[in-house]
Amino acid sequence: MTDPRMERLERHLLRLRLVSTKSRLDSLLEEGARSELSFLDFLDKVVSDEVNSKDAKRAQMRAQMAKFPLDRTLESFDFSLQPSLDRRLITELETGRYLANATNVLLLGPPGVGKTHLAIGLGRKAIQQGYSCRFITALDLVHQLAVAEQHGALETALNHFGRHHLLILDELGYLPLARAGGHLLFHLIRRRYEKGSLIITSNQPVGSWGEVLGDPVVATAVLDRLLHHSHVLTIKGESYRLKEKRRAGVIPIREGDAK
Ligand code: ADP
Ligand code: MG
Repeated sequence: MTDPRMERLERHLLRLRLVSTKSRLDSLLEEGARSELSFLDFLDKVVSDEVNSKDAKRAQMRAQMAKFPLDRTLESFDFSLQPSLDRRLITELETGRYLANATNVLLLGPPGVGKTHLAIGLGRKAIQQGYSCRFITALDLVHQLAVAEQHGALETALNHFGRHHLLILDELGYLPLARAGGHLLFHLIRRRYEKGSLIITSNQPVGSWGEVLGDPVVATAVLDRLLHHSHVLTIKGESYRLKEKRRAGVIPIREGDAK
């Protein structure tokens, strides 16, 4: 027969939603008895394990909600291949301090140099620190805002994309936006201004954003807000994919290339 105290304990743990402790109750009790932990150490262990389990679950849920397109991390980024990159600044960004001040990050550079990879890596760090994050391409975002506007739901869509602590806007500038698209983007950037951080990746220098946003006046207004509190990282250098191909001998190695 089950000990009535165990039954009560399980019921109470469930009511308090301490699901990890409930599912591991037997092994926890065994471990506590075996290692002769003090009451304080035992309670500390049980509560810490539950908190860690809840944190891990939340982080996993936030990562799913962020909709990262690739499984990339800062740890898997080879900084030695990108000597032009300010490593100290990336280390600073890893701390997440910029998120507390709603500072923006612009990652600029030609295709293939790792802008999306770095943005996802920073997004994952933000999530680990308890922030919410959403990744979307600039074109997708503008499309979603335009559809919402057609349905009279622009306000709801702006609120949705405005509420995440960190919004990653990928690939701004690969295709120029129509004027109306630039205006929608401006609405969102104004909504987030000094409230939440943006990471924007672009293959275009900010000087070309007039064409990118389809309207030079809107581009000035966008840049004014974006750059007010921002870190700009310009990555020079060659595409990672091309470098890999050179190494594999598919295309010839250039002078000065890292071997
Ligand atoms: P961009 O967004 O600048 O066009 P990506 O971030 O998509 O470039 O990088 C292209 C591919 O190369 C991705 O698979 C990415 O993970 C990889 N990559 C780029 N730079 C690096 C690097 N320095 N270390 C490891 N992988 C890299
Ligand atoms: Mg990219």
